[in-house]
Amino acid sequence: MTSAATAVAVRAFIGIGGNLGDARTTVEDALRRLALLPDTTLSAQSHLYRTAPVDAGGDDYVNAVAQLDTTLTPHALLAALQAIELAHGRERPYRNAPRTLDLDILLYGELQLADDVLTLPHPRMAQRAFVLVPLSEIAPDASIPGVGATRDLLVQVRDQAIDLLI
Ligand code: AMP
Repeated sequence: MTSAATAVAVRAFIGIGGNLGDARTTVEDALRRLALLPDTTLSAQSHLYRTAPVDAGGDDYVNAVAQLDTTLTPHALLAALQAIELAHGRERPYRNAPRTLDLDILLYGELQLADDVLTLPHPRMAQRAFVLVPLSEIAPDASIPGVGATRDLLVQVRDQAIDLLI
């Protein structure tokens, strides 16, 4: 007898940011599009936050974090995120250029991975208040594999200004 394997959903966290045009509307639209991804449930979303650019110029960013339960592979998820970025006309003229929309896979379950296109956990998430604050809002007990509890990392980014957008 053969039986089709039932894929178990993995909990992934997505960092969302934008600082060109109407960034708030862009981030809200990105959340709507994440909820429509195939084989994926948007199971939590943070509030929106306003932050100053880190290592980049331009206007303030609007940031949020989404929690997904998905059976997409990490690479299929990345491709889906890049399609959403493209739908918002994202161009990459130079590193850290201002962007309409930036979507990063922060965590994909406990997976640790580094290949030509994907590094997990996201390599810079532990240093960024705009990731750690919204992530902690929806997943206060989250931890970054190989790094540690986000709760303990927050203290190291407390000098980075971040405002809740009401
Ligand atoms: P960025 O310009 O910051 O959006 O970087 C996009 C590039 O980072 C893409 O070409 C991805 O292949 C690569 N990348 C590596 N790891 C990740 C990740 N965890 N999430 C999103 N993009 C990633």
